[in-house]
Amino acid sequence: MSESLPNRSCTALPGHLYVIATPIGNLSDLSDRSRALLAGVDLLACEDTRTTGLMLARLSLKRELVAYHEHNEVEAAERLADHVAAGRSVGLVSDAGTPALSDPGFRLVRACRRRGLPVVPVPGPCAVTAALCAAGLPTHGYLFVGFLPPKSAARIAFLKKYQSFEFTLALYESCHRIDKFAAELAEVLGPDRVVCIAKELTKLHETFWVGRAIEVRDRLAQASLKGEFVVLIAPESYTL
Ligand code: SAM
Repeated sequence: MSESLPNRSCTALPGHLYVIATPIGNLSDLSDRSRALLAGVDLLACEDTRTTGLMLARLSLKRELVAYHEHNEVEAAERLADHVAAGRSVGLVSDAGTPALSDPGFRLVRACRRRGLPVVPVPGPCAVTAALCAAGLPTHGYLFVGFLPPKSAARIAFLKKYQSFEFTLALYESCHRIDKFAAELAEVLGPDRVVCIAKELTKLHETFWVGRAIEVRDRLAQASLKGEFVVLIAPESYTL
């Protein structure tokens, strides 16, 4: 078991890992605390050094960046935890939003926790919470499942399994499959199931389609489907 005292300060302390949320489209969503810690850590682990480099340039910051992504996560996690253990302050960011949520991060956080090193959350933007808080679907409980498998059969099997789930389901879907998935929602869960598809949250073309699955499917068929999407599925018993 590991335990660490909460640290809510804006100063990067030696020997700490900071899990720093960054904007999902609107740079103004970066909190003062996130900005201060981005500026203050000794080392910043990031999914894509170019993407994070660009964000830092827009903030007029320059940091030492270390790549930490799905292809090197296993060994990079231990190396980065070594830095924390050696007394450096390490920040962890992903390309956008909250690290470790459908993004790399879990392994590094676990490596630090296993060694009893303090891990500090610096919360902020996250696509799933942005969609949930503004969709108008029930939020007293929800199940977030990240990305479903790309194959249609696996997605349909998931929908059948959770057809009668009592809370809202939340997931991420790629722009390449969103129209197909909207059709699958109407087909598997029935035309009246209430769903929300949220596109480009916090960006210029932010759009919420909320309604019966069949209506959302039809509205999507006429829309531009470039961008990023969150899908919410209301419990079976819910009506608008
Ligand atoms: N960790 C991130 C977070 O906190 O939201 C999610 C990273 S995941 C690799 C990227 C997916 O999140 C996108 O494919 C999309 O489904 C969703 N997403 C990210 N930004 C979004 C946005 N601005 N609007 C809608 N969905 C978004």
